[in-house]
Amino acid sequence: MSFALHEPSSLSDAIELGARFGAEGRFIAGGTDLVIQMNRKRLAPRALVSLSRLPDLSSIELCPSGYSIGALTTHKTIERYPAFRNRIAMLGAASQVVGGHQVRNIATIGGNVVNASPAADAVVPLLALDAEVDLAGAAGKRSLALSQFLRGPGKTDRSSDEVLTHIRFKDLPPNSGTAFLKAGRRKAMEISIVCVAAKLTLGAHGLISGAAIALGAVGATALRCPQAEALLMGQRARPELFGEIARCAATECTPISDVRASANYRGIMVAALVERALVRCVEAVEEV
Ligand SMILES: Cc1cc2nc3c(=O)[nH]c(=O)nc-3n(C[C@H](O)[C@H](O)[C@H](O)COP(=O)(O)OP(=O)(O)OC[C@H]3O[C@@H](n4cnc5c(N)ncnc54)[C@H](O)[C@@H]3O)c2cc1C
Repeated sequence: MSFALHEPSSLSDAIELGARFGAEGRFIAGGTDLVIQMNRKRLAPRALVSLSRLPDLSSIELCPSGYSIGALTTHKTIERYPAFRNRIAMLGAASQVVGGHQVRNIATIGGNVVNASPAADAVVPLLALDAEVDLAGAAGKRSLALSQFLRGPGKTDRSSDEVLTHIRFKDLPPNSGTAFLKAGRRKAMEISIVCVAAKLTLGAHGLISGAAIALGAVGATALRCPQAEALLMGQRARPELFGEIARCAATECTPISDVRASANYRGIMVAALVERALVRCVEAVEEV
C-alpha cells in the first residue's frame, strides 16, 4: 500500500487537493472505514487528504434553526452531548453503539454518513430527524436532504472534491420522544443486523402529531417508512396500534440474506424493534 498523505489546514486547500486527485484521491477523517477498505485491497488511493487539521468542523451548535454538527465530530462527542442523551436520545444511543471506545474516540459522524453503509448506525436517527447535509467543493457550497444524498451501498451524491462540512436538523417540538434500537449478534463491536430509529410527538389530547420511523441494514440505504408514519398521525398512542404499525413498517423495507442474518429474520426483527421503539418514544415523552 503506497500513497501520499496531505494534511491541509484550510477547507479551501482540502477542496483544491480533492479536485486535483479526483477519483485517485480520498479524504480521510478517523480512517476507521477507509483504512479497513484499503487493507482489504478494495481501495488503493494514490493520495489521502486528511481532514483532521481543518478548523471549525468538530463541534455541535444549537442555533435558532436547530442543531449543526461539524462533520469531524466524533461519535464519542455525540454520545456525551447532553441533548443527545435526553431530548434527542436516539442520536446519542446510535453513536454509543458504533464499534468500541477506541473506534468512537476517532470515528466521525461525517465518515459514517459519507461511507454510506446501509448499516451505518448514526445515519438512521439522522434520517428520522430529516437531516440536511452541507457540502463545500470547487463549484461552491450546497445543501441537500440526507435522504437525497444517500444513493446506494457506498454511494452518495458527493463529487470527489466535495467535503461534507456539517449535518443539520431542527430541534424537536415539545412533547416529543425518540428511541434507537439495534439488533446484532453481540452487544458491542457489532455491525447492525437491523437498527431502528423512531420519533413521536404528542399533540392536543395526546394524539400523535408527528412521527418518523427510519430503518438501517434492511435496504440499499437507510430508509424511512412513510406508510407506517402516515398511519400513526392523529392516532392515540397505544400498544395495539404500535403492533400494527410495526408490521406495516416491515413491509416497507427490502432486507437481503447475508452472513449476518436471513432476510426473513431481518423482517421479523424490524417488526419487533419498531414496536418496542414506539413504546419507548411514548415513555420518553412521559419522562420529561
Ligand atoms: C472495529 C470497528 C467497528 C465498527 N463498528 C461500527 C458500528 O457498530 N456501526 C457503524 O455504523 N459503523 C461502525 N464502524 C465503521 C466506522 O467506525 C464508522 O462508519 C465511522 O463513523 C466512520 O468514520 P471515520 O471518520 O473513521 O471515516 P473514514 O474512514 O475516515 O472515512 C469514511 C469515508 O468517508 C469519507 N469521508 C470522511 N469524512 C468525510 C468528509 N467530511 N467529507 C467527505 N468525505 C469524507 C472518506 O473519504 C471515506 O470514503 C466500525 C469500524 C470499525 C473499525
